[in-house]
Amino acid sequence: MPPPSSPSRIRRIVTLLAWAAFLAAPLALAWALHAGAITIPERYNPWTPLDVAAEPGPLTSFKLGRARAEPALCMAALAASGLQYDPVADRETGTGCGFKDAVRLQGGRSLALSSPTVLSCRAALSFAMWERHALQPAATQRLGVPVARLEHLGSYACRDVNTGERAAQGSGRRSRHATADALDIAAFVREDRRRIVVRRDWTGDGAEALFLRDAHAGACRFFDGVLGPDYNAVHADHFHLEAGGWRMCR
Ligand SMILES: [Zn+2]
Repeated sequence: MPPPSSPSRIRRIVTLLAWAAFLAAPLALAWALHAGAITIPERYNPWTPLDVAAEPGPLTSFKLGRARAEPALCMAALAASGLQYDPVADRETGTGCGFKDAVRLQGGRSLALSSPTVLSCRAALSFAMWERHALQPAATQRLGVPVARLEHLGSYACRDVNTGERAAQGSGRRSRHATADALDIAAFVREDRRRIVVRRDWTGDGAEALFLRDAHAGACRFFDGVLGPDYNAVHADHFHLEAGGWRMCR
């Protein structure tokens, strides 16, 4: 048996200590950030809440996910987002239908809606991020002017997923519309009243088509599910944007 201070035993102890330090370091860092013992810029600190106005960074999807999962965080982020909305009471209307922690969206931060519509907080928060960081930048870049108005086909509807083939009977699967987590958008209107219509302008390589494709791709950054004309015939005339559920970008 080797003596207590043999080189192999010391090596083992050193290795053990190194592993302990290696495993403890991230925990210590997380604790220090959480406790405010050390401060780092907001965009690199996972514990500071989502700021809709902040330029998206590497932690944005984590913060957005966290805010959308906790109603109080979601409402706080929404209140500072610049969206125009009224509170709306929770409602349960049937099996798998109804909404909780929703708002009646009256308008975006810098655009009007064709009519007010009820959206869950999490979907509204995704909308706020999309409008500010994807939709309006795409409009300015591709069209030279921001979008002044959105024409939508509605959000809340107690119904099943519309697959097209079995639309009459429904698919047997509740749509995200049934919980006010989805919004269908058919057209975008410029300040000069020129309309960019999903059904008419999606294809081609003109400025309108490029704008629509940027708006669609940008929605995939902030919503969980995005479906457009390339997905199926049911979506030939609108973008379906939803929060929660499976990730899809078609
Ligand atoms: Zn839809």
